[in-house]
Amino acid sequence: MNMNYTAEELAFRDEVCAFLDEKLPADIAAKVKGFRRLSKEDHQRWQKILCEQGWYATHWPEEYGGVEWTPVQKHIWDEESCRYGVPRSIPFGVNMVAPVIIKFGSEEQKQTYLPRILSGEDWWCQGYSEPGAGSDLASLKTRAVRDGDHYIVNGQKTWTTLGQHANMIFCLVRTNTEVKNQEGISFLLIDMDTPGITVRPIITLDGEHEVNEVFFEDVKVPVENLVGEEDKGWTYAKYLLTYERTGLAGIGMSKAALSHLKNLASRRLKNGRPLLEDPSFSQRIAKVEIDLTAAAISNLRIIASVEGGGVPGAESSMLKVKGTEIRQAINDLARRAIGPYALPFLEEEMNMDYEGDFLSDKDAAPLSAQYFNNRKLSIFGGSNEIQKNIVSKMILGL
Ligand SMILES: Cc1cc2nc3c(=O)[nH]c(=O)nc-3n(C[C@H](O)[C@H](O)[C@H](O)COP(=O)(O)OP(=O)(O)OC[C@H]3O[C@@H](n4cnc5c(N)ncnc54)[C@H](O)[C@@H]3O)c2cc1C
Repeated sequence: MNMNYTAEELAFRDEVCAFLDEKLPADIAAKVKGFRRLSKEDHQRWQKILCEQGWYATHWPEEYGGVEWTPVQKHIWDEESCRYGVPRSIPFGVNMVAPVIIKFGSEEQKQTYLPRILSGEDWWCQGYSEPGAGSDLASLKTRAVRDGDHYIVNGQKTWTTLGQHANMIFCLVRTNTEVKNQEGISFLLIDMDTPGITVRPIITLDGEHEVNEVFFEDVKVPVENLVGEEDKGWTYAKYLLTYERTGLAGIGMSKAALSHLKNLASRRLKNGRPLLEDPSFSQRIAKVEIDLTAAAISNLRIIASVEGGGVPGAESSMLKVKGTEIRQAINDLARRAIGPYALPFLEEEMNMDYEGDFLSDKDAAPLSAQYFNNRKLSIFGGSNEIQKNIVSKMILGL
């Protein structure tokens, strides 16, 4: 396997850097690099810039307005965009529902929804999980009953990320209770403004409103909003998950977080010396850096293996476990680096325009929030325990 970039790939990297130098708004990059709160408008402003460049939909065929980057190009983008402080892409429209619509949707669904995802007119959220259906997703109970040219939907979804901003939700619903769990599920596209939908916030450990509960009470959904065939939704749901799990290793983000950590540890003092020179602390940083380097090489190995058009297999589960453990280890070290200042937390300090007194260094403020928020990494996108089950079965043959 050759892990050196080709001349074309190096030229692509130069093109990415030139674009980011010129087009990435400094205020947005400052928020990302300082781990501050980003608004819906920040995301939409950046999406518009990416769209104008033609680089927003990197999984879509060109005929729908996408650009089909190779795995190596996506990797280069990941590395450089994290280094520059590009906001993470909100995946639910562009990377999740869109590939499903492209592969299984009707022509009308393609014509209606794909341009609206590109233009930012629609903000999608994901209605998969329910209070009793997370890892065991197929046991979901939200019911959709056909009534003439509508479905009537009743039930509850939970952990719906950024549902408070969304005007559309894609949902897995039960349309048949007489068959095996997996065989009675359908995939519906639902307008969040339909009467009977209630969105309630769930406030997470870091005090943020990132996730929600979504309740459906006699919600009327036109049958043309069914994707593919009734009761075949499980197939589409699994197809979508292959896209969800791509990139969960977050190597680029871990590299950026590690560099931030080293910078912080070089400025904070322990016994009059920079924390970075403390043997115990620097040994911990070295360990996580070695793990990160190994994960980055594994990532490249997997990229090389799918470069010819293959699909990553159980190796992506391995990478998700390692990648998220590394991110959490970096967050833990950052929390340790700010010491007692990790305890008091002023929620207002997460806003870039906060002008009051800071409890500690300005860049220390969001580190506890990050630590708490990133507990989610080992839970969502398939919990790490579930990924380990996959690794033990598919790779270790246990
Ligand atoms: C911040 C956040 C955002 C999310 N966003 C969304 C979203 O936008 N849309 C959406 O639909 N969902 C979302 N989720 C839900 C997420 O997909 C689920 O939380 C996840 O699938 C785990 O399901 P659960 O929470 O029901 O836990 P459970 O499935 O009840 O698991 C509880 C514990 O048991 C372990 N466990 C379960 N089964 C097994 C097994 N077979 N073997 C070993 N261990 C097992 C799990 O690993 C976990 O530690 C989000 C979750 C979080 C935390």
